[in-house]
Amino acid sequence: MGKTVLITGAAGFLGSHLCDRFIKEGFRVIGMDNLITGDIRNIEHLFKNKDFEFYNHDVTKFIHVPGELDYILHFASPASPIDYLKIPIQTLKVGSLGTHHCLGLAKEKGARILIASTSEIYGDPLVHPQSEEYYGNVNTIGPRGVYDEAKRFQESLTMAYHRFHGLETRIVRIFNTYGPRMRLNDGRVIPAFIGQALRGEDLTVFGDGLQTRSFCYVDDQVEGIYRLLFSDYVDPVNIGNPDELTIKDFAEEIIKLTGTDQKIVYKELPKDDPMQRQPDITRAREILSWEPKVSREEGMKITYDYFKNLSKEDLLKKEH
Ligand code: NAD
Ligand code: UDP
Repeated sequence: MGKTVLITGAAGFLGSHLCDRFIKEGFRVIGMDNLITGDIRNIEHLFKNKDFEFYNHDVTKFIHVPGELDYILHFASPASPIDYLKIPIQTLKVGSLGTHHCLGLAKEKGARILIASTSEIYGDPLVHPQSEEYYGNVNTIGPRGVYDEAKRFQESLTMAYHRFHGLETRIVRIFNTYGPRMRLNDGRVIPAFIGQALRGEDLTVFGDGLQTRSFCYVDDQVEGIYRLLFSDYVDPVNIGNPDELTIKDFAEEIIKLTGTDQKIVYKELPKDDPMQRQPDITRAREILSWEPKVSREEGMKITYDYFKNLSKEDLLKKEH
């Protein structure tokens, strides 16, 4: 009998790619999602697979899964700033109550659990690049605090279950990841810029565009998560691509990639938007022998092709 893995947030961007990977590796996969920011079309291709099952369930409510479970990957949570600003209380609940339910389920089933944390726990960092040793600089009461603090609480709760109950836990700190199946209108910078280019709109750079990010292609991210789950390492591990650039330079790259003649227009910088972000991946290199393989040029080409092939209806759909 193959091992069984429960993936929460399965209909989302990362969750759906994880479902694909675990099915490919011969696992029985239970995907769980309440579709609040996800899209069932991301996993529809798996419905014909006898090893895949989907539960439409809100993980902030008690989770019941019959039978044995070997692994849980807890990925349910809004992940884009406009999503968590729109649904702040659900964001806090899924990081706290949702995580509590997942940890309780893992304890009940004797399963190993991996929790999706984030570079946002470093806040607007005063240390650069960010290593796992850095405690962060988060504004607890700012608009982004609902996400950052939920994820910080999630890490503390996970370590408490590990220390107090002896649960097998893993924590991945994910840095900006992109690829096919991101939602075109989720407000994150990559779908935002590509969507604008495809609709013939100007590219909106927030602030002076000198803030930096480092973008990791989804296949690299999934490989890092997969290796972490099967490692014996309990402390958090950063997974991301250290190739850092300014948002203004990135907008120029998108204009080149899409071959459009859009202009860049500058809009107000959202509150508490981190000024710089680059993962220190020394730990992932040492513990998991992992490092990203896909260049931004390659990854962005695949991502652009994905968005280009969406229907006109998807392209024009505005959520905000
Ligand atoms: P996403 O919005 O595409 O996916 C999240 C999924 O969780 C969605 O399908 C949503 O419907 C589901 N969900 C939300 N609340 C739920 C609830 N209460 N019950 C059940 N399902 C619920 O986002 P994503 O980019 O795939 O992010 C997935 C995870 O990875 C999140 O935990 C996020 O914090 C983390 N993460 C992602 C990134 C990134 O760059 N993509 C970076 C850091 C951390
Ligand atoms: N950003 C931008 N224009 C947009 C969307 C985002 O300039 O249309 C900026 C945003 O202010 C941030 C960076 O791009 O500095 C990355 O934003 P994203 O929402 O993708 O992720 P974050 O890393 O901030 O969570």
